[in-house]
Amino acid sequence: MGVPGPASSADPCSVNENRSIAARAGDRNGSASCSHSLAKASAPMPAVLCNGSTRAVTPCPASSDAVRDDLNTMGKQGQLILRARDKALEILETENACTDWYRTRNSDPAAVFRTVTFAVDRKGEAFVRKAPAGDGFEMIYNPYVASVEQDGGPSSTVTINANGAFFFPAASLVEDRFKGGPLSFQGTRWIQVGPYVGGSFRAQVLVLLHEFGHVIDLLPEDREDRDGKSRQNTLDVLRACRAEVESKEAPHTFFSSR
Ligand SMILES: [Zn+2]
Repeated sequence: MGVPGPASSADPCSVNENRSIAARAGDRNGSASCSHSLAKASAPMPAVLCNGSTRAVTPCPASSDAVRDDLNTMGKQGQLILRARDKALEILETENACTDWYRTRNSDPAAVFRTVTFAVDRKGEAFVRKAPAGDGFEMIYNPYVASVEQDGGPSSTVTINANGAFFFPAASLVEDRFKGGPLSFQGTRWIQVGPYVGGSFRAQVLVLLHEFGHVIDLLPEDREDRDGKSRQNTLDVLRACRAEVESKEAPHTFFSSR
């Protein structure tokens, strides 16, 4: 663990950044909820905070949070990602079965996770597609939720489908009867992430934890197999992390779900 002490309860200070704390003084949550001792420091961070086990991370993770700054420029979608990222970070900064599982691959998963950046694929697949699979069977393909380079390590970029289950609980179902032919719309279908309804906070946290499993090569690649392997990977994340994912609701309340 690079961060001393237990991660404070869900707060905007879990990322130890002076600047963001100052900027947040006027937030509804205010600095009162910032129980992180690191975050309260007004002087420059002592260098010792940056030693720790951050071998994988070149810049001192306690000195700035460029990822947070970046997400703060990405509108509502950025805020939703940030909220889920805060929760995932909080989980990984705490001693629990989920963190232990990631540690089987990397000694300081929180430090690596903090460097992961995010992009939104605005043109990502928006439909659930039904297509014949031979022998009278049909396959249902959900729009992808997110993707990341396998074993990309620190500073990997997780790409989130703007039209998938990270943001939405449902998608239009289309029938792809003839390749390249006209699509026939068949109403709406719920889309989920594991057991969680798409667009829910828990679904979002689970997505980030799943993608992070690829970042450190803890989960096997599942890009080719459109559903089965990815689902299995999600189940593996849940087995280790479900209690933490469900431990409480959003870290802060100023983006109440709508
Ligand atoms: Zn995957």
